Amino acid sequence: MNALTTPNPLSTQAIQALDSAHFIHPFTDHADLATRGSRVIVKSEGIYIWDSEGEKILDAMSGLWCVNAGYGRKELAQAAFDQMMTLPFYNSFFQTTNVPAVKLAAKLASLAPKVGERSFEHVFYSSSGSESNDSNVRMVRRYWDLLGQPQRKVIISRHNAYHGSTMAGASLGGMSGMHAQGDLPIPNITHIDQPYFFENALPGETADEFGVRAARWLEDKILAVGPDKVAAFIAEPIQGAGGVIIPPASYWPEIQRIVDKYGILLISDEVICAFGRLGHWFAYEKFGYKPDLVTFAKAVTSGYIPLGGVMVGDRVAKVLIEKGGEFNHGYTYSGHPVACAVALANLEIMEREQLPQRVKDDIGPYLASCFEAIGTHPLVGVAETCGFTAGLVLVKNKASRERFDENLGVGMMCRRHCFQNGLIMRAVGDRMIIAPPLTMTHADIDEMMRLIRQALDLTLQELT
Ligand code: PLP
Repeated sequence: MNALTTPNPLSTQAIQALDSAHFIHPFTDHADLATRGSRVIVKSEGIYIWDSEGEKILDAMSGLWCVNAGYGRKELAQAAFDQMMTLPFYNSFFQTTNVPAVKLAAKLASLAPKVGERSFEHVFYSSSGSESNDSNVRMVRRYWDLLGQPQRKVIISRHNAYHGSTMAGASLGGMSGMHAQGDLPIPNITHIDQPYFFENALPGETADEFGVRAARWLEDKILAVGPDKVAAFIAEPIQGAGGVIIPPASYWPEIQRIVDKYGILLISDEVICAFGRLGHWFAYEKFGYKPDLVTFAKAVTSGYIPLGGVMVGDRVAKVLIEKGGEFNHGYTYSGHPVACAVALANLEIMEREQLPQRVKDDIGPYLASCFEAIGTHPLVGVAETCGFTAGLVLVKNKASRERFDENLGVGMMCRRHCFQNGLIMRAVGDRMIIAPPLTMTHADIDEMMRLIRQALDLTLQELT
């Protein structure tokens, strides 16, 4: 009898053995996994998940930045069930459509604020953030072709950005580890540095001075490439997977001035930042810039089912629709009726519970005050928040902000202490980050901060 035919439930060891034998995980060292075994997550409720050994864990990363409405929402399961019983699938190719996809497109258009003369009346659907960014590349190229400027091919992005894992997504992203595997980036994608004040500011430079200087790296790059060859600039409002890198207030206005000056398209990748994470439905509203394309995924369904897409601004939509004829691009699951029905139910919950507003007026400021307090911990060089996401840097010397030797892996050490003590917190180098569900109460935040402090204390103990 093999493990699959033994009576349920499988033991943790049996699941780990099957896992290691058959399941290739994303972003995982499998030789390492085989020796240690995966942690098997079996259930969830509210802000907590449980593993197969019965350990309760506070999920301060909302799964993978997506479970904004929290776990255990029966309404979302019901929406999926009802839609599956009505119409589980039909495609939206060849002049067919379905009701949830239409309703969701209209809903998203109503939630995306108009900025200046730009508005978002159209949505293109995919099933993920990566696919959506691939679609962005296709749409941007098609746009410039239709305007008779096919030489505008270059998309500028930023080092340490994350825009997905497909060929185009990973190329748009600026992760050196990803570029090192598989000859990336693909041609016509180039990168500038990120606006990371803590690491890149000059001595004595203010945050605002640094923000303007960092934005001007875009202008330098445009001039180096040739302004007539640049198609678009893509950026996350704040860099999420890169470590919750929050730009100074002066950054985005200067970026806007530059993209306007050279007439290039602006893509706001809001796969993490939309749907309340920064206290708004869409994050471009928080920073006041005017994107032409907005990538979304993850929290549009609170991660309950895969769905992604692009909010296509009028500047691009008008050209694609009026001049473009058939756009030879799309996915089997573009506008999947079950995913769209779940998204509609999820947005209804977020509206009813005013989750973006809560982040802006209540739990966001409360988290900011808690992070200000944790900033005094001897291991913390800087602690910062934006909306309901936060990052802190572990340093060797608090006064001089001297960093630890990279090879020491202090971030992973701290992450291990979190994990062993019932908290999911992510490590990006020595930057510890969180993006908890937007449903947290003040008491939940207090409990999370207690666990974070405990992990910091244990890390400090291990280092001394
Ligand atoms: N863009 C951003 C900003 C992301 O954070 C991610 C994923 O974390 C992606 C794109 C890729 O999304 P997916 O993993 O759904 O393909």
